[in-house]
Amino acid sequence: ATPTALLVGTGRGAQLGVLIKGPEILESTRRVDTIVLDKTGTVTTGKMTLVDVVNAEGVPRSELLRLAGGLEDYSEHPIAQAIASAARAEVGPLPTPEAFENIEGRGVQGVVERHTVVAGREALLNERSMPLDTHLAGAKEAAEAQGKTAVVVGWGGQARGVLVVADQIKSTSAEAVTQFRRLGLTPVLLTGDNTTVAHQVAREVGIEQVIAEVLPADKVDVVARLQREGRVVAMVGDGVNDAPALAQADLGLAMGAGTDVAIEAAEITLVRGDLRAAADAIRLARRTLRTIK
Ligand code: ADP
Ligand code: MG
Repeated sequence: ATPTALLVGTGRGAQLGVLIKGPEILESTRRVDTIVLDKTGTVTTGKMTLVDVVNAEGVPRSELLRLAGGLEDYSEHPIAQAIASAARAEVGPLPTPEAFENIEGRGVQGVVERHTVVAGREALLNERSMPLDTHLAGAKEAAEAQGKTAVVVGWGGQARGVLVVADQIKSTSAEAVTQFRRLGLTPVLLTGDNTTVAHQVAREVGIEQVIAEVLPADKVDVVARLQREGRVVAMVGDGVNDAPALAQADLGLAMGAGTDVAIEAAEITLVRGDLRAAADAIRLARRTLRTIK
């Protein structure tokens, strides 16, 4: 190995916004055949906004926003922050919950103005015997068919509304997926989000294989399962949630705008928040290897 070739490789890497931890990493870039992509914050911008409010009959829109907003204000999830800030902008100061519980990867629950309020995935409300009526179920399905996330809100034994939150697919993600295929990698979309939403996003960027409704702690198991099936896995992620999966992958790539924990767990850091940088990184590393050999 000539150290010069490595230097050239990593110098070019810095230009491309790709930071490679060490030369031993180059070898795994040659073997990877599968690239697992986290959805939120990786394929999409992760910047959520509240785009629709659907209230159940007899429930004032302002009450739905006050109670859901007050509760979500205590969650750090991007979905929660989108709901809380939109609610505050519309109804003013939000009530402070008397109790709050985060249900990892599923939603939140708490006591707001003496109501036990639940907000999150439909299953969470079903478990608490607050099924959606046909109006709310229709709103939820329509939102998901468009790739948007429906947050269901209930209290007092009834589902009270659906808050539709949307994220934007990065304009560069589809091109990145094309480049992964050209590099011989099979793209896989991995997310905690609902299957319908996940498939819609996958379709828009050209991914066929989708693994959805995976709890944050289980992402690492998905990577391990693919490896047991004989795949050599690269994983691109951004969140704290993604760190164990990035470490488990044969090649972990952290999106630069992501958290320090993710960057620490990964072998490669992508300074740009652009998924094409992952393809650049793999291409560059492979080319550098050829120069060395
Ligand atoms: P991702 O894998 O897309 O980053 P998460 O695992 O963090 O998503 O969450 C999975 C799903 O759980 C979300 O899509 C949402 O439906 C629900 N969820 C999680 N946290 C909240 C919250 N604070 N409020 C409402 N829904 C939530
Ligand atoms: Mg994420």
